Amino acid sequence: MKDNNCIFCKIANGEIPSSTVYEDEDFRVILDLGPATKGHALILPKEHFKDVCELDEKTAAKILPLGAKIGTAMKQSLGCVGFNLVQNNGEAAGQTVFHFHMHVIPRYEGGPTIVSWTPEKEDPEVLAETAAKIKSAL
Ligand code: AMP
Ligand code: ZN
Repeated sequence: MKDNNCIFCKIANGEIPSSTVYEDEDFRVILDLGPATKGHALILPKEHFKDVCELDEKTAAKILPLGAKIGTAMKQSLGCVGFNLVQNNGEAAGQTVFHFHMHVIPRYEGGPTIVSWTPEKEDPEVLAETAAKIKSAL
């Protein structure tokens, strides 16, 4: 299903032009207009899914291999030495466009520090309690 009010539906289906680096029957991969690093790309399913929780299993299964393919091509063509696959779900997680997308962010030697956090210490009892809470909801 497409959502007529969704800009990524329009881009993924070619109604709005984009810098496309890859397309197949299920996905379009475009360059991000506000790149974190040179070559920052977005994998867009052609169907509208709000976030990872809405993705069907068939589409979901294709996304990681496609991320690896795009990242490998970036290493070969752009001279990056690694890449991040990043995917935000919900406003609190930084999602700003509510059509599922996976970021593929090339990483260069000496490049900016992104996708990082400061590890905190955690009490083993709290770890056990937290694990039990999540398990109980699965
Ligand atoms: P997120 O914060 O995970 O929802 O990521 C949304 C991303 O989409 C951001 O990195 C934006 O720079 C990018 N973006 C928003 N609109 C466009 C557009 N029209 N074409 C390409 N990238 C876009
Ligand atoms: Zn959409």
